[in-house]
Amino acid sequence: MNIAIVGSGYVGLVSGVCLASIGHHIICVDNDKEKIANLKKGEVPIYEPGLDELMKKLMKKKKLTFTSSIKEAAKKATVIFIAVGTPSKKNGDADLTYVENVARQIAVNMDSYKLIVEKSTVPAETGKRIERTVKLNLPKKYRGKIDFDVASNPEFLREGSAIEDFMNPDRVVIGVESKKAEELLREIYKPLKTRMVVTNINSAEMIKHASNSFLATKISFANAVAQICDRVGADILKVTEGMGFDKRIGRSFLNAGVGYGGSCFPKDVDAFIRLSEKSGYQFNLLREVRNVNEDQKASFVRLIEDKLWIVKDKVIGVLGLAFKPDTDDMRNAPAVDIIKMLQQEGAKIRAYDPVSVENTKKILKKITYCKDPYALAKGCDCLLLLTEWDEFEKLDFKKIGQSMRQAIFFDGRNLYNKDKMESLGFEYHGLGRGVK
Ligand code: NAD
Repeated sequence: MNIAIVGSGYVGLVSGVCLASIGHHIICVDNDKEKIANLKKGEVPIYEPGLDELMKKLMKKKKLTFTSSIKEAAKKATVIFIAVGTPSKKNGDADLTYVENVARQIAVNMDSYKLIVEKSTVPAETGKRIERTVKLNLPKKYRGKIDFDVASNPEFLREGSAIEDFMNPDRVVIGVESKKAEELLREIYKPLKTRMVVTNINSAEMIKHASNSFLATKISFANAVAQICDRVGADILKVTEGMGFDKRIGRSFLNAGVGYGGSCFPKDVDAFIRLSEKSGYQFNLLREVRNVNEDQKASFVRLIEDKLWIVKDKVIGVLGLAFKPDTDDMRNAPAVDIIKMLQQEGAKIRAYDPVSVENTKKILKKITYCKDPYALAKGCDCLLLLTEWDEFEKLDFKKIGQSMRQAIFFDGRNLYNKDKMESLGFEYHGLGRGVK
């Protein structure tokens, strides 16, 4: 099938590459001309394991092309996915400016039937708005003559395992309101041989917001329980292990740490709160999920302040900056707020991350970047673990501890064994590990 994907970021590019790899002809569009020029040269603008090789292979086979012209894409493709950003406005609403813009551009460039599919995460009832925008902007000569459908197909991939997630999804959700739209989308995903959840557009939009908000709730729940563990001498790792074996609960996302971040959970929780507010329901549970998450970062900083005693001029080494492992995405990474709070107290920050340094430089100032964890640790008054990269699991902590001025370790992801770290000479602080 000839498919266009508008927006070649984390979701658009991965979706384009994966759909090309299951046999479709894909044209990826972006209005960032530099990004498109680089993609045409085979340069991937993001860090995502496996993406680079797969993309180059499909470009060679001519299954995957790039353009900055929606006009060109709208002419060639029958199905057009919208995968542009939907960031938060100041009041928490999803900013749908880019979605509207793309819908309008598709409309003015349409000359035959198109299926327009929302892949971006959008609030319920956005499909109706897209339909109206396309109707209003369709050239006069085509009004009443050419047909189109709008559908919703939310994306559930996770950065860091995006290709695997796209190719082996737990389910594919499609929100459709015509037989033709359903058939086209079923045909597109047929090679994945996966479970399809077919619903109307509003429900599909709700599924995405409700899913992300539920996962954020699990994380905040674990963080709230961790706060109590610290106060009553229980260990959150054991508590979540014991809870997680219950099939009704499940172990995944029940992780205490410095909180969730990234480009999705914070903004999607905000947007869902706003959507419910506007619909006349106060989603106070989600407000508290957000509060717990914000407080988790502040509480981690309070712990550091308490243990360091004086923060001013202390050298703090940060292991890991990205919001999670295997990505270079720094959008809403907890590291950003934590570092800013410590810098305000006068701390000198050093940092190491395998891939996120360039993106961090765009957001944070006055950080000394180090070439590896060993160079980072030298002379530090404490180390903080903020991203649980695989490579951090095998570090030589004896060597690291010996090179520090004070061997204090704050484990913001509860990655390490407390007893082992203490036996290596560290004063170790995890979150919810039962020791104050
Ligand atoms: P992104 O910022 O990485 O990519 C968006 C791209 O759209 C950018 O390259 C931008 O230049 C382009 N763009 C903006 N306006 C455009 C226009 N008018 N024409 C053409 N291109 C345009 O964003 P992302 O992380 O890929 O997220 C996209 C959507 O998918 C969001 O709604 C997000 O919530 C959702 N989503 C993201 C993830 C994730 O893990 N990143 C997962 C699931 C869903």
